[in-house]
Amino acid sequence: MIKLNLFKGGKRHAVTFSYDDGAIFDERLVGIFNKYGIKATFHLNSGFLAKQNRSADFFSIYDGHEISCHGAEHASLSKIPLSNVVNEVLRDRVAWEKLTGAPVRGLSYPDGGYNEDVKNALKACGIAYARTARSTEFFSLPKDFLEWQPTCHHRNAPEIAKRFMNQFVADSYFSGLLLYIYGHSHDFDRENNWELIEDVCRTVAHHDDIWYATSIEIYDYVTAARRLVTSADGKIVHNPSCMSVWFTYDEKPYEIKGGETLTLS
Ligand SMILES: [Zn+2]
Repeated sequence: MIKLNLFKGGKRHAVTFSYDDGAIFDERLVGIFNKYGIKATFHLNSGFLAKQNRSADFFSIYDGHEISCHGAEHASLSKIPLSNVVNEVLRDRVAWEKLTGAPVRGLSYPDGGYNEDVKNALKACGIAYARTARSTEFFSLPKDFLEWQPTCHHRNAPEIAKRFMNQFVADSYFSGLLLYIYGHSHDFDRENNWELIEDVCRTVAHHDDIWYATSIEIYDYVTAARRLVTSADGKIVHNPSCMSVWFTYDEKPYEIKGGETLTLS
């Protein structure tokens, strides 16, 4: 039987970071991520940041990472009319797509609030994934990417990142797990604890079995993996997407390219 338990490049696990609000302290945070080869997603409020007159140059700090939506004015989406939800999200998409020159399909819920109506509105707005603020303290992938629950806030990350590395990455029995840490860079300034995030990055960085990716990269890869089609006996597999997917069959790793059909033995 094939198991969807590998990430891009055949890596056994993935790590991502997700930061909200676009505080000026993001610049220092991105510098730390870049130093350790870590990828992150930054959820930014276009209306709020426009009032701060940030220069276009400021946003170049995010090069190599993902810019994503967080609601133009940071309104809690479960507490405003649905038409305003649409406006909050589409204003962000328009702003960040103009800046990046690419479709922007992610969001984190401002204040963590959402409900079924909000999720349906996001779908209509072309949002593919939305991060909640409910920590699982575990490393699973979501069933529903519009309720993507992170592993933990960074304040709990030092201990959880060590558990991830020592228990799950170190043991080859485990695969297909994601460490997903979220927070706000202004917390580090306010609490004067920049060494915390530096320690977490040092713990997880530069490991051959880890894919360091942004949220949308993980969404796109996992969605492609879940679209693999197999024959009734499980020995023929077809990849209808345009990107390579890695999986194991009888514990052996395989890559199947986009559009390819493999017969396994
Ligand atoms: Zn926020």
